[in-house]
Amino acid sequence: MINSQNDVKILYVEDEDDVREGYARALERISSELYTAKNGEEGLALYKKHLPDIVISDIKMPIMSGVEMVKAIREINLHAYIIFTTAHSESAYLLEAIELHAEGYLLKPVEKKTLVALIKKLSKSIKLERENEDQKNILQHIIDSENNITLIVDVNTIYFASKSFLSFFNFNTIGEFYTKNSSVLDLFLKTSEAFKHVDLTKTPLQKGGFYDLLLSIEQSKRILTLEDKDANEKSFFINASHITETKCLLTFTDITQIEQERQENNKKATTDALTGIYNRHKLEEIFEYEISRIARHLQPLSLAIVDIDHFKVINDQYGHLIGDEVLIMLTQNMRARLRQSDTFARWGGEEFVLLFSNTNIQEAYICAEKFRQQIESLEDANKIKITASFGITSYKEGDTLTTMLERADRALYDAKNSGRNCTKSCI
Ligand code: GH3
Ligand code: MG
Ligand code: MG
Repeated sequence: MINSQNDVKILYVEDEDDVREGYARALERISSELYTAKNGEEGLALYKKHLPDIVISDIKMPIMSGVEMVKAIREINLHAYIIFTTAHSESAYLLEAIELHAEGYLLKPVEKKTLVALIKKLSKSIKLERENEDQKNILQHIIDSENNITLIVDVNTIYFASKSFLSFFNFNTIGEFYTKNSSVLDLFLKTSEAFKHVDLTKTPLQKGGFYDLLLSIEQSKRILTLEDKDANEKSFFINASHITETKCLLTFTDITQIEQERQENNKKATTDALTGIYNRHKLEEIFEYEISRIARHLQPLSLAIVDIDHFKVINDQYGHLIGDEVLIMLTQNMRARLRQSDTFARWGGEEFVLLFSNTNIQEAYICAEKFRQQIESLEDANKIKITASFGITSYKEGDTLTTMLERADRALYDAKNSGRNCTKSCI
């Protein structure tokens, strides 16, 4: 609570008229805003009215003592600058005054030079504090003027937060954030998949290592999902830059709309429009991933082509739309029965591919047969029943999706030739 003018404001409280008037003249020379009072009560009233930077007060005074007045002032401003002047005879009060931790205790008669020197010293600190306060305000203004959420943090402390941060969570102060979170890291760890990979136990947090780690995450993955005060999920792109070794400027750019579109496009690119299961493109992607797993873990991998028997007849008999419904029924049913490690994709038309992770050919045969029997037992709303043939194969060194599909197709051909509605393998 420091006034914004250049000069420091002084309140001088002294009950002896001649002393007060004498010192007031000296003080007027160093401050253009000097207020004088002759007891604590008057002094307190002037303090409330003018909020001076420095209070010089005698201790023992009629009506209200300097100690009582300063206690009341401290309630208004805990950091008010106080100088007590005191006579030898007032030593009984001095102890109480000392407990108030004033900036100075001057023994009467006070030398004017000493008082002026002390005030000049305090004025310097006050001006520095003002500058600090100004800089803080400028910084706050800058971070508030951006659309981004901006924080200046180290791992333990939020030094500055833009208004947008507080209003996002409906906090009034940064302190409120800490009633619900232990540190700013909570934001990253509680809420977002992308940051689950960040192993904090291995990070030299105190040195700002977290932010280096953050920046080492690929930009496209440096996305944080946060819930706002109305429980709406928002996506933010996170950026960080070091201010000092430990302090960092963190910015959260709202990309919710772009992210939604990206996810929708991604879904469109990876799923089949009719059935909603994975498409060929996604199967290829998953296959690549499975192959890399095989290399690492030496696990088996099997694949099945599933082809509906005489599907053309269903189309011819009931029409294409009913045929579509049958395809949807089949996929929904299969999907509900997949193991978590299985992948089910539409390869095209009435052909599907099942990828059985960590499954050898014998196990794949059992799985395929289960699915086949399940398909056989299905019946749609028009009482249409279908069967399907399965061709299975297992991974051999050097295989690609194409080579595995070729063998599975051969097995499928075998199944079709063996009267359909059965599973055949080709290894
Ligand atoms: P097979 O037992 O030998 O597999 O006989 P099939 O009739 O199932 O095989 P064929 O390859 O001769 O015919 C496939 C049929 O699947 C022809 C095509 O019209 C139909 N089909 C492919 N895609 C769709 C689709 O998206 N919707 C519908 N309703 N039919 C489709
Ligand atoms: Mg076919
Ligand atoms: Mg068919």
